[in-house]
Amino acid sequence: MNQFQYIRPAQQRAAIDAVAKDATAKFIAGGTNLVDLMKRGVVAPQKLVDINRLPLNKIAHQNTGLRIGALALNLAVADDRLVRERQPLLALALNAGASPQLRNMATVGGNMLQRTRCPYFYDLALPCNKRTPGSGCGALEGINRMHAIFGFSDKCIAVHPSDMSVALVALDATVLVSGPKGDRRIAFADFHRLPGNTPEKDTNLAPGELITAVEVPDGPFTRHVHYQKVRERASYAFALVSAAAALDVENNTIKAARLALGGVAHKPWRLTAAEQVLVGKPATEETFRQAAAVAMQGAKAFKHNAYKLKLAPNTLVQALKTAAAA
Ligand code: SF4
Repeated sequence: MNQFQYIRPAQQRAAIDAVAKDATAKFIAGGTNLVDLMKRGVVAPQKLVDINRLPLNKIAHQNTGLRIGALALNLAVADDRLVRERQPLLALALNAGASPQLRNMATVGGNMLQRTRCPYFYDLALPCNKRTPGSGCGALEGINRMHAIFGFSDKCIAVHPSDMSVALVALDATVLVSGPKGDRRIAFADFHRLPGNTPEKDTNLAPGELITAVEVPDGPFTRHVHYQKVRERASYAFALVSAAAALDVENNTIKAARLALGGVAHKPWRLTAAEQVLVGKPATEETFRQAAAVAMQGAKAFKHNAYKLKLAPNTLVQALKTAAAA
């Protein structure tokens, strides 16, 4: 690992200034992904700005929704009474991710910022436009079993690995950030980005911007929810495909729906067109299959991931069936 400077400011402004003024600096909180990347030489920040002294770990209900501090631990959020009562889909998604040990270190902000698990990204001997812009994409013609079926480009076909983010995009969350130019709010659906010609950029954060909190608006999705994750072993594995489903059902008729897929794109993949298919319809498997067909419009597979064209709609239907029956 390269040598680096390490500082631990107590003031948010000092932390932001330290990263904004040094293009080689990075924030660190739980470090569950960043330290791995540094050990492997994928990233080599010359300064780490530890933000764990900042008071950003509170979980509270304010006015119209939950406000979850960026430093709240994944485990704490998943176990929080307010979260379990008001946003159970978020708790389910968090508990589907990683292992208890990792969830006890990883923060909400860090979960959102974790990098893809594309194996080419982690192997310095192989080309990867995300790690080294312009070097090529090893996965395009290589082993692409885990890769995207939506929203990819000819520069990158990686997927985002977060489970939590799939629930948050479905729940219309908002990301609160603070940076050198002040504070701003970013709709969760606009926080992560598609690869386009600049796959090295995972998010729309500006240089030096720090995630301070996530807000999740109140809604009727407190009962009929489910997070379905399909993976290659029962725990501690990233999703091949996952589906977040939240339904508001009355007399077996769907009044509102929120849907998203994970493991299929460079960002958590919201399914607004499929949600519209569900509204006003009976909560039956036939309805769910209609929505899944709409959800899959535009999907395209590569040599090794064609199975996702079947797995994704089936996972979505299973999530909807389980949510409806909850
Ligand atoms: Fe790199 Fe993206 Fe290609 Fe993977 S898919 S090798 S992350 S450019």
